[in-house]
Amino acid sequence: MKEHKRGTIVVIGAGIAGLASAYYLVKDGWEVKILEKNEVDNNCSYGNAGMIVPSHFTPLAAPGMVAQGIKWMFNSKSPFYVRPALNPRLVDWGLKFLKHANRSHVDKYATALRDLNLYSSRLYDELSLEDGFNFELEQNGILMMYKSSQMKHEEVELAHRAQDLGLDVEVLEGEAVKALEPNLKLDVLGAVLYRCDGKLCPPKLMQQLIQYLKTAGVLFFEKTEVHKFVTVANTIKAAITDKGTFDADAFVVTGGAYLPELMSKLRVSTPLLPGKGYSFMYDTKGEKKLNHAALLLEARVAVTPMNGQIRFSGTMELGVANDKIYENRVRGIVESIPKYYPELQVEYPKNKIWYGYRPCSPDGLPYLGKLKKYGNTIVAGGGGMMGLSLGPAFGKIVCDLLADREIEAGIAGFKPDRFGS
Ligand SMILES: Cc1cc2nc3c(=O)[nH]c(=O)nc-3n(C[C@H](O)[C@H](O)[C@H](O)COP(=O)(O)OP(=O)(O)OC[C@H]3O[C@@H](n4cnc5c(N)ncnc54)[C@H](O)[C@@H]3O)c2cc1C
Repeated sequence: MKEHKRGTIVVIGAGIAGLASAYYLVKDGWEVKILEKNEVDNNCSYGNAGMIVPSHFTPLAAPGMVAQGIKWMFNSKSPFYVRPALNPRLVDWGLKFLKHANRSHVDKYATALRDLNLYSSRLYDELSLEDGFNFELEQNGILMMYKSSQMKHEEVELAHRAQDLGLDVEVLEGEAVKALEPNLKLDVLGAVLYRCDGKLCPPKLMQQLIQYLKTAGVLFFEKTEVHKFVTVANTIKAAITDKGTFDADAFVVTGGAYLPELMSKLRVSTPLLPGKGYSFMYDTKGEKKLNHAALLLEARVAVTPMNGQIRFSGTMELGVANDKIYENRVRGIVESIPKYYPELQVEYPKNKIWYGYRPCSPDGLPYLGKLKKYGNTIVAGGGGMMGLSLGPAFGKIVCDLLADREIEAGIAGFKPDRFGS
C-alpha cells in the first residue's frame, strides 16, 4: 500500500483549481480525495477560450468599466451585461466593484497579477513536458486586434503599460498582422501582439489531468455535494456531503462561481458573481488555419485555434446564474466574426452552444491563501477571466502553503478573508 507521508486532504471541486491542486498535492505525498457536486467533465474549466494571459494584469474592476457597462446594458447583443435585479448579493457586489474601479487599485495589483500569471505560464510549460500530457500548449502569443482608431488608442496605451511592466509586447500595423495570418483574410487596423501569452486546449488539459490523477491514486467522488463542515476550534475536521462525511487532515476549497455558498458555511465572505460566457466550436474543415489566438477587441470575442477547429467565445453577463441561453448575445458573437475575418461566414451554432460561469470577485482579484480562522484550509478561487491561466499557480501555491514552503509569487493581496470573516 502507498504511504501518504503528509496525511489525507479533501479537495472540493474538480475544475482547474481543484485538479491542479490535486496534481501538486499527490506528488507531494498527500492522499487526495476530490469531491465534485456534478460530473467531473462539466464545469467552467472545459468550454473556456484556453488562453494563458499574463496580458491580463488589469483587474476587471478598472476605470471606464462602469461607464462602458452602463452603455452596453441597453444593447441586447453587447458583450458585457449586468442583469439588473433587486438581489442583495448583486447590490453588495456592485457597491464593492464601484469602490475598486479606480486607477490606484489597478496600479496596486498589476504587478502581482502579472507575476502570478507568468508563474502559472511557466508551470504550464513544465506540465506539458510530463508523460501523458499533450494539451496543445502554444506559447506563441495572442493578437489583440482592433478595427477602430479609438480602440487602437486605448490598446496602444495599454501596450505601453505592459512594456513598462516588462512584458514582451509589440504594436503591429495592419499589414504586419496580416503577415502573421497568411491563410485567412483579415480586416483590421492593427493589433498588439502579446508574445508573453499563450493558449491550450482546455478539454484535453482537463481529461489528461484526471487521467494522471486517477493513475496516481487520487479518489474522485462525483455527484457529491459539500453542504457543511465539522469544525473544532481553528481546524476543519470534516466535510459533510449528501453522500456521507469525509474526514481529512486538510482541505482545499475551490468551487468556481459557487465558492460563496461553500464559504458561507464557514462564515467567511468571498463575494463573487457568476459572469456567464458562451463558446462554440467552428469546423474549418482543415482549411483557413489560424496561427494565433486572438481577441477581437471591439466585440470582446476570443478566437482560439483548438483541436483542428476554432473556438469562438465571448460575453460577460453578470448576475444571478440561470440556465438560459440568450440567443441575441450569441448572435452578437457570430455577427462580429466576419467583421474581422471576412471569409468566415459562421452560422448560428444552434445546439452547439456551451456556457459557463466565470467566478468574478468585485475587486477583480483571486481568493488564494490559508484561512485565518481555519489553519488547515486553503481557498483557491475567484479566477474570473483568468481562472484557467492561473490554474497551475493556484495548485502549486496551495501545495507549498500546506507544506510551509516559500511561495514563489506574491499573494498578500489575494487573501480569501479580505472581505471579512
Ligand atoms: C466563455 C469563457 C471563456 C473563458 N476564457 C478563459 C481564458 O481564455 N483563459 C482563462 O484563464 N480563463 C478563461 N475563462 C475563465 C475560466 O474558465 C474560469 O475562471 C475557470 O475555469 C474557473 O476554474 P475553477 O476551478 O475555479 O472553477 P470551475 O471550473 O467552475 O470548477 C468548480 C467546480 O466546483 C464544483 N463545486 C461547486 N460547489 C461545490 C460543492 N458544494 N460541492 C462539491 N463541488 C462543488 C463545481 O461543480 C465545479 O465543477 C473563461 C470563462 C468563460 C465562461
